[in-house]
Amino acid sequence: EVEAVNMEEITGAQIIAEALKAQNVEYMFGIVGVPVIEVAMAVQGVGIKYVGMRNEQAACYAASAVGYLTGRPAVCLVVSGPGLIHALGGMANANMNCWPVVVIGGSSDQNQETMGAFQEFPQAVRSSIYGRPGACYVDVSGDMVTARVDRARVRAAPCCPPPPVSLAHPKAVTEAVAMLKTSKQPLVIVGKGAAYSRAEDEVQELVELCGLPFLPTPMGKGVLPDDHPQCVAAARSRALLQADVVVLLGARLNWILHFGLPPRFNPQVKVIQVDICAEELGNNVKPAVALLGDIRNVVSQALAAHSSVPMNYYTVFHHIAELLPHDCIIVSEGANTMDIGRTMLYNRLPRHRLDAGTFGTMGVGLGFAIAAALVESGRKTCQRVVCVEGDSAFGFSGMEVETMCRYKLPVIIIVVNNNGIYSGVDPHTWDELGKMGDLTTIAPPVTLLPEARYDQVMAAFGGQGFFVRTPQELRSALQLCLDDWERPSLLNVLIDPASDRKQQVVSTLIPFSFNIWF
Ligand code: ADP
Ligand code: MG
Repeated sequence: EVEAVNMEEITGAQIIAEALKAQNVEYMFGIVGVPVIEVAMAVQGVGIKYVGMRNEQAACYAASAVGYLTGRPAVCLVVSGPGLIHALGGMANANMNCWPVVVIGGSSDQNQETMGAFQEFPQAVRSSIYGRPGACYVDVSGDMVTARVDRARVRAAPCCPPPPVSLAHPKAVTEAVAMLKTSKQPLVIVGKGAAYSRAEDEVQELVELCGLPFLPTPMGKGVLPDDHPQCVAAARSRALLQADVVVLLGARLNWILHFGLPPRFNPQVKVIQVDICAEELGNNVKPAVALLGDIRNVVSQALAAHSSVPMNYYTVFHHIAELLPHDCIIVSEGANTMDIGRTMLYNRLPRHRLDAGTFGTMGVGLGFAIAAALVESGRKTCQRVVCVEGDSAFGFSGMEVETMCRYKLPVIIIVVNNNGIYSGVDPHTWDELGKMGDLTTIAPPVTLLPEARYDQVMAAFGGQGFFVRTPQELRSALQLCLDDWERPSLLNVLIDPASDRKQQVVSTLIPFSFNIWF
């Protein structure tokens, strides 16, 4: 009898409540009735918020939306029979949306020996959030709710940890990156799987580093801002039709995306499909590359595989844009340098951009920059003048760095150096050409001296010169220049001589070949 005194009794309802609390469940939505009233009261007792709804369907919709928004399932509490039937609509919707939700239904009484079924809880939470998220159902018989057991006999289930990291096969990642690099008209489709995966930072970096246009699905909206310059939602049909490579990030090629098929898609389109659900890969369209894994992790993998040297225009501008003060005066000239820079370097103030202008004149940049630096320092507004030049454009007036040095104008010149006009060749190819014959007869007219040391031209006059090959070097050199108000500086940023502009979706509304980001 001594034992009976020490025994702490606990009801089935309390066990449920504590098990849910241990799973970090924050919300329960439901409609109570026999036998689940005690369950609702017990969950409130452990600090879980209970929201009484008017129909189990709405309760289940609400619970599944909490699952989508937080990544941890909420619970929908229903009674047996009609209660569960009403909840089915919400469960089906959650399943189709790939949103986690745990539905708990009270049913008729059962024999005591099935009480071990309470151990189903951690499995319920796990199956709702692991793999493809979705709905799961736990059936609690009525007599379990009120039955009392010795607490010592209850085995508490530990909190189910978040899904383990899942990565795509490295070879598939390499293939995908190579396919993207050679694509002419790529398109990233951002679905609600990307939203659920909380992949916003990674997806933004991918889109910006590679200059990729993107299209959100309805609930993929907001992973990247709708007003992002690379968002092609306004030209959705053309974007889908013209894409040669589609990166599918957590969206299914179902009716929302016209099944990925003609006439809405290019019949030759190559799909790089990223999904956490293996069964989804190849649904309707056989992917050119299938990346099975969590979007956030897989996109990080792609970024790691991509951030190799040499850089391309988009990578360079992405890093510059992150570091430049919002009020700087941007002077720009060049071909790709000026075109891509215009889309990626934002102006937020009037009269803060000077470029090749109406006449498309190359060689204006350094003169403009000198003027801007003089006017601004005269006004004591101390806005930074940043001159973003193609290597060819820089050459037209490069000697003006001496002027800048002489007057100690703290202009920052960034030469985006691709060894040529429009494009160039690498040093090795240049040497090979030299061995093959007379360079004046065989060298492509667009080439300039590969890896020319424009930075040393600046250094020759006492300014700061930086020779930059990697994103890290670019960032640290630019930061040093921004911190130095005493003298001009020049960053000679080597990029892939074959780096090119990604063709953009052309809207029918805009005449000629202006791309819609302009
Ligand atoms: P949308 O309605 O935005 O097109 P869908 O519901 O069709 O989105 O597709 C979402 C896809 O995202 C599903 O195939 C699902 O398996 C997948 N998914 C869900 N979570 C993740 C994740 N963390 N990582 C990768 N894919 C995910
Ligand atoms: Mg979809």
